[in-house]
Amino acid sequence: MTEFARAAQDALGRLGIELADGGRTVPTPLTGEELVAVPVHARDDVVATIDRATDAWPAWAAIPAPERGQVVRRLGELLREHKDTLADLITLEVGKIASEARGEVQEMIDVCDLAVGLSRQVGGHTFPSERPGHQLLESWHPLGPIAVISAFNFPAAVWSWNVAIALVCGDTIVWKPSERTPLTSLGCAALLSQALSEAGHPNVHQLVLTTQPDDAAPLLDDDRIRLVSATGSTRMGTEVGPRVQRRFGRTLLELGGNNAAIVTPSADLDLAVRGIVFAAAGTAGQRCTTLRRIIAHTSVADELTDRIAAAYDQLVVDNPWRRDDVHVGPLIDEGAYAAMRDAIDRASTEGGKLVTGGDRRDVGPGGCYVGPALATMPAQTDLVREETFAPLLWVLTYSDLDEAITLHNDVPQGLSSSIFTRDVREAGRFTGPLGSDCGIVNVNVGPSGAEVGGAFGGEKATGGGRETGSDAWKAYMRRATTTINHSDELPLAQGVEF
Ligand code: NAD
Repeated sequence: MTEFARAAQDALGRLGIELADGGRTVPTPLTGEELVAVPVHARDDVVATIDRATDAWPAWAAIPAPERGQVVRRLGELLREHKDTLADLITLEVGKIASEARGEVQEMIDVCDLAVGLSRQVGGHTFPSERPGHQLLESWHPLGPIAVISAFNFPAAVWSWNVAIALVCGDTIVWKPSERTPLTSLGCAALLSQALSEAGHPNVHQLVLTTQPDDAAPLLDDDRIRLVSATGSTRMGTEVGPRVQRRFGRTLLELGGNNAAIVTPSADLDLAVRGIVFAAAGTAGQRCTTLRRIIAHTSVADELTDRIAAAYDQLVVDNPWRRDDVHVGPLIDEGAYAAMRDAIDRASTEGGKLVTGGDRRDVGPGGCYVGPALATMPAQTDLVREETFAPLLWVLTYSDLDEAITLHNDVPQGLSSSIFTRDVREAGRFTGPLGSDCGIVNVNVGPSGAEVGGAFGGEKATGGGRETGSDAWKAYMRRATTTINHSDELPLAQGVEF
């Protein structure tokens, strides 16, 4: 057994998980070595989990929301207790540096805190009724069994965004994680199972470890699944969205991004460079909110490009396991590197110039380590308008802010965005109604690294869904407009006589 397989087994052991022999193994992106074997679920298993989630729902929905919140409170405690263990599994399966892996678990803890508060707050308004002796009010009810489909790059946090809130809202859940992250998924599911069983509740959360999209299809097609919350590529969303919509199921789609930062002549370049380097190279460029485009004013573009290139040259790209000095871990697989190289090669045929990076780093056999790449582009071509899920940052230039905002919005995706400026008028235009068309709009903050208090998600090909804070909980509940007549008369609305 390799060092990493042993580390995975130790982490699972600390979470009380024992795996039977057989199943499939997944490789760690750290070295390409295989980790421990996990079960594989087939289509019939998925149907069985929908049966269980459906059977469990009425009893779960009948429990008062504050009591359901106590389960989420306990989940938050268990996440605090097992933060490092879960972070280890994230590093082993995704290759994140330790600080980011722990940050992902911290985000889960934060979402649990948010959801516990919500468990005493979700509810509707009352409205003045036009009819005497009547009450008009809005009630929010649990939705039913829901499906959560999640991406590889946030294998734990995205689950918690959905699950912590869906649980307090009274839904039961079937979770289909990425094929690449079964161990982290088993860890999350075990902690929730413990929180539920300690409180004497049945397991209202089911995990399915499928490997083929076809096996997960019942989650999309079964009428009993009231909401499919799916996080992943826009390609996945174009398959999942219409398919669920065809049966009038609800979707919450969190899809790809192509996030930009406008850097204006008044920007504090020290601050901009720091924000840009973390947003573009952090998580090896594998966040949905990763910065992929800089739109720099011509007066600052050269200096900015030079300073980012210099900062890139300082980044430590290496195997992050048990090291705190590494900034950039591996890409998830060779396919990600091939897509990045292909984009760099295509750029050179379109007048693009590679400034730095894109080179394969020799970090022992197996892992796919690459220097974060920075390239100038003469125009926003179709290549730039695509999401290349790797650390590849394009630099474009502009002369006037209207042009910058047009370039900014002229991509299919609409997730996250930034402007670096000290001019309040520029900030106001960017954050105003004709500014950035994204779901997340930042001033003097890079586009990646959102807090849980605000709603998270984006527009256009990012899918339109919103998760975590603000009123994102509404996606997990059913709204009923309720009229109660407590008078002895029966007046009709709009003064109709009958
Ligand atoms: P992916 O689209 O390959 O897979 C995401 C999930 O969808 C996986 O669980 C996969 O098995 C499942 N899936 C794919 N096709 C399916 C189908 N036909 N039916 C049912 N399930 C299907 O994405 P990935 O490579 O895991 O993650 C990277 C992508 O996710 C990037 O595009 C990134 O921007 C996006 N992402 C978006 C957000 C967000 O909140 N907007 C967050 C994280 C990742």
